[in-house]
Amino acid sequence: MKTLQLDGSEGGGQMLRSALTLALVTSKPFRMTHIRGQRRKPGLMRQHLTCVHAAREISGGSADGAEIGSNELVFHAGTIKPGDYRFAIGTAGSTGLLLQTLLPALAMADKPSTLHLSGGTHNPLAPPFDFLERIHQTALQRMGFHAAPQLRQHGFAPAGGGEITCAITPSGRLAPLDLTDRGNHESTRIRIPFRNLSADIAKRMLQAALKILPCEDARIDQLPDGPGQGVACLIECGFTNTRAMSCAFGEMGVSAEKVGHRAARMMDGFLTSNAAVDLHLADQLLLPMALAGGGRFTTVNPDDHVTTNIRVIETFLPVKFEVKTSGNGVHEISCDPV
Ligand code: AMP
Repeated sequence: MKTLQLDGSEGGGQMLRSALTLALVTSKPFRMTHIRGQRRKPGLMRQHLTCVHAAREISGGSADGAEIGSNELVFHAGTIKPGDYRFAIGTAGSTGLLLQTLLPALAMADKPSTLHLSGGTHNPLAPPFDFLERIHQTALQRMGFHAAPQLRQHGFAPAGGGEITCAITPSGRLAPLDLTDRGNHESTRIRIPFRNLSADIAKRMLQAALKILPCEDARIDQLPDGPGQGVACLIECGFTNTRAMSCAFGEMGVSAEKVGHRAARMMDGFLTSNAAVDLHLADQLLLPMALAGGGRFTTVNPDDHVTTNIRVIETFLPVKFEVKTSGNGVHEISCDPV
């Protein structure tokens, strides 16, 4: 089969992860050059390398260029073998992004699988576990993907040491996505999980978030002793037809108030828009939606993840995406078979 050529110079790790997923699902081999070309340290890092190894292992495939720092990879998938797998990233690299790489492929197999993944579960620039479980998974379920992610141990950056598991059931027939109308805003909840830090930091973060988004369902959660230290501000809004989440992580040298404000302002901006899908979920829905036969959703101003991911998906699958502005900063993204 012809090897598809992909240029990663305009994107990040998502272009590679999507290519791996699509190679698993379609059995089309690919060569990617300039991997993570837009990132400060381009090339494969531990998290991406674990995605490559895992994709190779679950399909008995092959990978050339699978080394730390490598800018080029040639990947041939074999046949997906559902089963019980364990993958350790070995750093605080995101277990959630590893799960997103494998989930659609294993969901399309004919038998169930279980994944045990270790690494980061709450790290910047990646979906925190709560987002995976409550936002991403809920949206995927609408299309017929069945997976049950569970958090065993929080792993904050930079220590990592987190663990998640996920049971994945064959999805059978998938249904196109229609998520254009979010319905009414029905609930807001704020959670501040923290470990090995003073409770005062978490309390101040919560108070700062509540000033912008007052709500009753708000609390700090002190985690049992475990690896490293960290704190996150997670804000979830429920709508009649969907959910959205914003988050911000504690950082050395950044006040607790600033982190709480950051998460609350992001959610406040989303509430002011009329979109159904938040910025991050938007780029994460594109691939599952294309596999499910297409569909449409509304979102806020799409970022580069959307454009680069669309390019990768259209290279593998006979689909066409369209991104239209529908006014007030709301965009409609549609995907149709061609
Ligand atoms: P990349 O930068 O190409 O490695 O891709 C990062 C992925 O993580 C994208 O799918 C982002 O939407 C996702 N992501 C980054 N930050 C968040 C966040 N706070 N919540 C949910 N997803 C996130």
